[in-house]
Amino acid sequence: MSGMRPTGRLHLGHYFGVLTNWARFQSEYESFFAIVDWHALTTKSSNTSEIKKHVFEVALDWMASGIDPEVSTIYVQSGVPEIAELHLLLSMITQQNWVEREPTLKDMVRMLAQDEEEARDRATYGLLGYPVLMTADILTFRGELVPVGKDQESHLEFARNLARKFNGLFGVDYFPEPKPEFTTTPLLRGVDGLKMGKSYSNDIKLADTEEDTTKQVLKMITDRSRIAKSDPGHTDLCEVPWPMYGIFAKDLLEQAKNECEEAQIGCVDCKKRLASKINEFLRPLREKRAKLAADPDKLQSILEFGNQKARKTAKQTLSEVREIMGMFNWRTD
Ligand code: ATP
Ligand code: MG
Repeated sequence: MSGMRPTGRLHLGHYFGVLTNWARFQSEYESFFAIVDWHALTTKSSNTSEIKKHVFEVALDWMASGIDPEVSTIYVQSGVPEIAELHLLLSMITQQNWVEREPTLKDMVRMLAQDEEEARDRATYGLLGYPVLMTADILTFRGELVPVGKDQESHLEFARNLARKFNGLFGVDYFPEPKPEFTTTPLLRGVDGLKMGKSYSNDIKLADTEEDTTKQVLKMITDRSRIAKSDPGHTDLCEVPWPMYGIFAKDLLEQAKNECEEAQIGCVDCKKRLASKINEFLRPLREKRAKLAADPDKLQSILEFGNQKARKTAKQTLSEVREIMGMFNWRTD
C-alpha cells in the first residue's frame, strides 16, 4: 500500500523514488495505491480549489508511468470513508507525545510559515494527526510493504509502533507491522540541490514540455568550484546533473567525465545534453499521458471502480476491527 497527495503534477523524484517500485510490485503483490486527498488538506486547508483537479493529474501521471488500474487498485482516499473511521479509532490509542515529537511535521510547518504567528495557524489538529491518518491508510488494507521515498521513513516507524500497540492492547496479531521499501534513488534532488518537491518549484515534472524541462535542467547547480569553462571540472562535486547522468545517460558517463575533467565541455553544454536525454526518456510517457488525458470520463470511471474495490477490503477490515475493539458492528449500508 502506498499513496501520494494531490498537491500538483508529479516529478522525476516520484518516478525514480517510488513509481518504479510500484510498477514492479503490482505484478507480485495485491497492491493498493491511494490519491490521499485528505492529506492534501493538512497543508492546504485554506486553498482547496485545485485539489480535485490534482486528483486527476496524479492518476494520469501514475497510469502514464505504468501503474495499471486493471492490476492494482487505484482509488481516492475520500472515496473510502472507512479510512476515516479507522483514523478515529486509532487516535484513541495514540499517545499525544507520539505525534508531537514527529520531526517531519515541525519541518513542514517551518517550510510553510513565514513567521511564528503563521506557524501557529498552520499547526492544526489535522496536521498533527497526519501520521495517524497515514497509519490508517496503510492498516485499512493491512498493508505489509509500503514503497515510499526516504522522507517517509519516520512515518513508517510511527505506523509500526501504532500497529504493535493495537495488537498488544487487544491481545491479537491482527495488523502486520508495515515496512518501507525504497528504490536505489530514495531521495532525488531538485535543480537547487534540495529534495525535489512538487511544492518547491525545483522539480522536473513528468508532464512538462520539452522546453520547460530544458529550462529547468539549465538551472541545475553544478560544480561550485568551477568558474570558467577552461577550468577543469569535478564530477564528484557536480551536485545535481552528475547524479542525473547516472540515471538518464549511463552510456555517456565515461565520456562526460573525461570531457568535464579535461575542460573540453562547459557546464551549459553538458546540461543541454542531459536535458535531451531526459526528454528522450520521458517522450513515450508524455505521449501515453496525453492520450489518457483526452478521455476524462474514462478516468473518472477508473477511479470510481477503484474506490468500490478498495471499499470492499476496507469494510471487511473495519468490521473485524470493531469486533476486536468491542464496538458495535451496526449495519451502515
Ligand atoms: P509535497 O511537496 O506537496 O509534499 P511531494 O513532492 O513531497 O509533494 P508527496 O505526495 O508528499 O510528494 O510524496 C509522495 C511520495 O513520493 C512519497 O512516498 C515521497 O516519499 C515520494 N517522494 C517525493 N519527493 C521525492 C523525491 N524527491 N525523491 C524520492 N521520493 C520522493
Ligand atoms: Mg511530501
